[in-house]
Amino acid sequence: MTTPCIICVAITGSLPTKANNPAVPITVAEQIESTHEAFEAGASIVHAHVRNDDGTPSSDPARFAALKEGIERHCPGMIIQFSTGGRSGAGRTRGGMLPLRPDMASLSVGSNNFPTRVYENPPDLVDWLAAEMLAHDVKPEIEAFDLSHILKAKDMADKGQLAGTPYIQFVMGVKNAMPVDRDVFDYYVRTVGRLFGPGAPWCAAGIGAHQLTLNEWAIGAGGHARTGLEDNVRLDRDRLAPSNGALVRRAVDICDRHARPVATWQEARRILGLRLPEGAREARAVRA
Ligand SMILES: [Zn+2]
Repeated sequence: MTTPCIICVAITGSLPTKANNPAVPITVAEQIESTHEAFEAGASIVHAHVRNDDGTPSSDPARFAALKEGIERHCPGMIIQFSTGGRSGAGRTRGGMLPLRPDMASLSVGSNNFPTRVYENPPDLVDWLAAEMLAHDVKPEIEAFDLSHILKAKDMADKGQLAGTPYIQFVMGVKNAMPVDRDVFDYYVRTVGRLFGPGAPWCAAGIGAHQLTLNEWAIGAGGHARTGLEDNVRLDRDRLAPSNGALVRRAVDICDRHARPVATWQEARRILGLRLPEGAREARAVRA
């Protein structure tokens, strides 16, 4: 049977503004509403950053807590993934929300260049973030901006710093980091299979217009897909994306063309080895 495709929606990020696209959700209330539409459209993971009232990036655990509560209420079962990325805070403040026990969190395991700066992930901070995720039962999504990050994840898994099979996301098309290159992509896929086993799940994200390219490649190659306004605010050259949900619907269409069923949140949790959400036990009993 074809593996269902997990669609992750990256709703906000730390860079896009209302000036780029008025549909970018900034307040927690907007984020919950936008996530709900994306969930209904087929997304089973929400990847989230939070913002201050003025729209600048934040790492305030209280905002993350409010967002988590709202998503759990309006999108029951959806996998919640918080960003520990570098734009929203320095050092350990990047992981200050991990005690909230989201299902997942992004984890960058090495440094690289970004469009205008160095994306710094020093080894001691990477070790600390991974230890916090282990302590709070948060599954990391390894953000592979470079091949070395996939091999670093293998090293960390072997040392017991990551629980279970690492879930690797290939990120392509960030200026000054790894470009969108099909040979590299294919090598990434082979490397994940070689290091973590042929069935190991992986996903891919492309930036800007490359979002569509990476959705096509990942869905066609049996991986999972990330979409959303964090990475791309347009449908095409002439049209802004009307919502996160619209970008999810575009990914669902690609799944249809490749005869990939879209993963429900239950299937996504099983594929990724995640716990069931609080209160889902009755749902499981009904299905059984
Ligand atoms: Zn992010």
